[in-house]
Amino acid sequence: MKVDYLIIGAGFTGATLAERLASAGKRVLVVDRRDHIGGNAYDEYDPHGVLVHRYGPHIFHTNSKKVWDYLSQFTEWRPYYHRVRAVVEGKEIPLPFSLASLWALFSPRLADKLEEKLIAHYGYGARVPILGLREAEDPDLRFLADYVYRNVFEGYTLKQWGLRPEELSPTVTARVPVLVSYDTRYFQDTYQAMPKEGYTALFRRMLAHPNIKVLLGADWREVEGEVRFDRLVFTGPIDEFFGYLHGPLPYRSLRFVLEHHPLPYVQGVGTVNYPNEHPYTRSTEFKHLTGQDYLPHTTLAYEYPEAYEPGRNEPYYPVPREENEERLKLYLKEGEKLKTVFFAGRLGDYRYYNMDQAVARALKLFEEVVRE
Ligand code: FAD
Ligand code: UDP
Repeated sequence: MKVDYLIIGAGFTGATLAERLASAGKRVLVVDRRDHIGGNAYDEYDPHGVLVHRYGPHIFHTNSKKVWDYLSQFTEWRPYYHRVRAVVEGKEIPLPFSLASLWALFSPRLADKLEEKLIAHYGYGARVPILGLREAEDPDLRFLADYVYRNVFEGYTLKQWGLRPEELSPTVTARVPVLVSYDTRYFQDTYQAMPKEGYTALFRRMLAHPNIKVLLGADWREVEGEVRFDRLVFTGPIDEFFGYLHGPLPYRSLRFVLEHHPLPYVQGVGTVNYPNEHPYTRSTEFKHLTGQDYLPHTTLAYEYPEAYEPGRNEPYYPVPREENEERLKLYLKEGEKLKTVFFAGRLGDYRYYNMDQAVARALKLFEEVVRE
């Protein structure tokens, strides 16, 4: 078999590149070692008819009109604002930590004082990363920073990464900044929605082009000598591609436990975070996300973080920190030597991408490769 492009991985990165290249007249083969398309965004119906996400809850959000318009060709959307609450000292408070969280936790007098100070120092609407807030000179803001650090970030981050917040790139905890506003949505992006018929249906449409062939249940190593191609796009782990030549890049993994309940709903919002209790970090009730409110029963996913062990579990998260960047650079140099091989995606780039960033990256790479 001979194709123009061989694409390893049928997630957002691989599917976007495949669709764009196929529409530009290229013949494409997409290979994934899993037995389904969609990568980590894959969804399916559980035995009770609840639409669940096998690799953890996925909520779509983006500020990119380009990405939004691109994906809108393959799905209709269900408007959805994700809401998260965190259990702090026995109370459920809105997350990201906001002015609303102050009033849920503290006495009206203290909440009022902290609200005034936050607005005076940062301005209404500001988004302040916790590690930045900890540098505040004002003693009341320092008190607040230490409180939020201890009760929201420290324990959760230790569970999720096995590391303290300062041991990671500051961009990690900055994903969930302190909000100087009453916005109780988890994301503030312009576009927020769920694909109306789910992610897998969206992927099916992306890959339906007659120039695209899909081979599932096959590893790159199995097809390497079998398929002839002009160019290769690899969206799996870049260190694995090079046989761990410069040592393994660390990843963090998760174990998902799905629980079904004979009740319409178990929790009031999509996700509840547990920074300082339980071995799991959060529980997500899929019906909030997907809108299956007509079902009399419900399914929740609990996320148990664990170390990544190749072959045993999945490399879900690259670990953003300085020492890993250094090792990544060595792999990127290897990549540059291969003129017909391109790396992209959360694993191929070793970047903590959200779905929209994976799509944006793939669209950009497409523009680069067709220009050549
Ligand atoms: P992937 O989806 O990982 O796809 C890569 C594919 O390559 C996989 O299917 C894999 O099987 C295949 N592959 C790898 N190596 C090989 C090989 N050697 N041979 C054959 N196939 C191979 N993003 C959001 O925007 N919102 C969210 O709410 C959100 N929640 C998330 C929750 C969790 C728990 C996780 C882990 C991620 C979440 N994300 C979320 C991020 C999202 O999953 C990624 O941005 C997106 O899936 C990246 O797409 P990708 O194609 O780069 O990678
Ligand atoms: N985080 C935390 N406590 C929370 C929520 C997030 O400490 O209640 C930190 C933690 O380090 C986490 C990071 O912020 O890994 C990013 O959170 P996000 O919800 O974006 O993680 P993801 O959905 O990608 O797993």
